[in-house]
Amino acid sequence: MKVEYVCAYCGSGEISRDAWADWDTATQQWVLGAVFDYAHCHRCERETSLKEQEAPEAKKQPSPSG
Ligand SMILES: [Zn+2]
Repeated sequence: MKVEYVCAYCGSGEISRDAWADWDTATQQWVLGAVFDYAHCHRCERETSLKEQEAPEAKKQPSPSG
């Protein structure tokens, strides 16, 4: 079972968490360091609480080989 996080107020999945991204010189990428409690909803444009719920069944991807 997969879970998804949505905004507790509007139910949108357009949410972000406050986090640190740490630079990794070896891979030349920002990698996720720590994730904090602060959550922001891009639809409400304000701080929000996140609701964890079961994610709907993912649609099956058509396989390239048929
Ligand atoms: Zn929201």
